[in-house]
Amino acid sequence: MAVALIADIKRMTLHDGPGIRSTVFVKGCPLRCLWCHNPESISAKPQMLYHEKLCIKCGNCDSACRIGAVKNGIIDRALCVGCGRCTENCFRGALVLSGKTMTAQEVFESVLRDKCYYGTEGGVTVSGGEPLLYPDFTAELFAALRKEQIHTALDTCGEVPFERFETVLPYTDLVLYDLKGMDPARHKANTGKENTRILENLRELGHRNIPVEIRIPLIPGHNDFPEELRAMADFLKNIPSLVKIKLLAFHDMARNKYKEVGLTDTTPDVKPPDAAAMKHAASFFADLPQININQP
Ligand code: SF4
Ligand code: SF4
Repeated sequence: MAVALIADIKRMTLHDGPGIRSTVFVKGCPLRCLWCHNPESISAKPQMLYHEKLCIKCGNCDSACRIGAVKNGIIDRALCVGCGRCTENCFRGALVLSGKTMTAQEVFESVLRDKCYYGTEGGVTVSGGEPLLYPDFTAELFAALRKEQIHTALDTCGEVPFERFETVLPYTDLVLYDLKGMDPARHKANTGKENTRILENLRELGHRNIPVEIRIPLIPGHNDFPEELRAMADFLKNIPSLVKIKLLAFHDMARNKYKEVGLTDTTPDVKPPDAAAMKHAASFFADLPQININQP
């Protein structure tokens, strides 16, 4: 039975595909986007989250850790193996383990509980991290959902071999595909990888007529330049199965998550774009189907 490392399952989500959905977040991502809003999903290993505001420095966690990797809530991340034992001693909920190995059947049973909320439009999205690091898990989950006539959406960064799409596509109703820029060098500076394979895979999805919703994060000073926006729009004109484009405004609500997971915030000076900037960016895509702005 296929398994995945699950960071979280969020219920009643409204921005991860059509309608009301449950979104399954897997852990592990091949990219390192400077602006990542889910830093707890980057690593493909279990990780401890530390909510400093909840901690009363009681020291209960210290004795639970057999290798001395935590002291008064402060985790030595070089030592910590993510076993989660210390969470059992923290009655304040200040320590939380992110990353639980679950079978596709377990996740299916969990999201099936919300079937009555999905209606005809909603359903289940697998996001991350990168779901196609777990193609067998995602395919098995989607196949089970299909039998229940529940809509399935795959939220991907595209930086994987196309064979992984082939495993999942027979059970996928919609692909939510991230497009972060066209200039290869800038893409590498922003995400850690060039975009060659991402663009090739997107072209192939178009060629196979797979319904695709494009999601473009708009990050001031990183990918909001006119030449980038124009090049993205030109590229998308050649994707015949494009159903929607969503422009996602950078927001700074994830800053605290970096601290919780013990990472350094990589865009401390970036400010969210205002409504005028979003509208201007959207104007580059005016000739394409359904351009949509998402601004918290
Ligand atoms: S047990 Fe919880 S509240 Fe107490 S020190 Fe550890 S993290 Fe803080
Ligand atoms: S997760 Fe395990 S290894 Fe890490 S601090 Fe807690 S008890 Fe120690």
